[in-house]
Amino acid sequence: MKLQGSCHCGAVKFSVESNTPYPFSRCYCSTCRKLNGGGGYTINIMAEAGTLKVEGEENIAVYRSALNDRGRYEEDGRGYSRRHFCKTCGTMLWNHNPLYAQWIYPFASCIDTPLPIAPEHRHTMLMHKQPWVEVAEGPGETHHRQYADTGIEDWHRERGLYGKL
Ligand SMILES: [Zn+2]
Ligand SMILES: [Zn+2]
Repeated sequence: MKLQGSCHCGAVKFSVESNTPYPFSRCYCSTCRKLNGGGGYTINIMAEAGTLKVEGEENIAVYRSALNDRGRYEEDGRGYSRRHFCKTCGTMLWNHNPLYAQWIYPFASCIDTPLPIAPEHRHTMLMHKQPWVEVAEGPGETHHRQYADTGIEDWHRERGLYGKL
C-alpha cells in the first residue's frame, strides 16, 4: 500500500510503498523511548526505500545514535541506525540503516494514511523498559527481552499479510 507521511509543521511530506504496513512491533529501548516513544515505546513499520518520494528534503536532519542499549552498534554488527526528522518541528520520520539499505522504517506516528490494525502485538527490548510503562498481556501479545528473532517481513508473511493492502 502507498503510505503518505508528514511532519507536524508541514515542512516535510513523503510517500513510500509498503508491503509490511501493520504497526505490530513496539520497541521499549531507551533510544526509542527518548527520541519518539512518549508511551515508553516506539512503533516502526517497514517500506521499500526505492519508492520513497520526499518533499522538503532540505528540512530533514539525521540523528545517528552511537549507542544502543546493548553497547555500540558497530560491535553488535547491526550498523548505525539513522533517524530522520524535521529540523523545524522535530517530528521523527523514519529510520534507515545502510546494512538494510533496501528498506526504510517509517515511524507509524508520522503516517497520515490510516494503517491497518495489527491482529497481534510484539513487545521487544523489554529488558530496557522503564518501570512506569505497562505492557499489554494476553493472547496475541508476545514479550521479548531483546529483539525478536523474526523480522517485520517474516511476521507479515507468516500471517498472510505481506503485500495484502
Ligand atoms: Zn516539521
Ligand atoms: Zn528501540
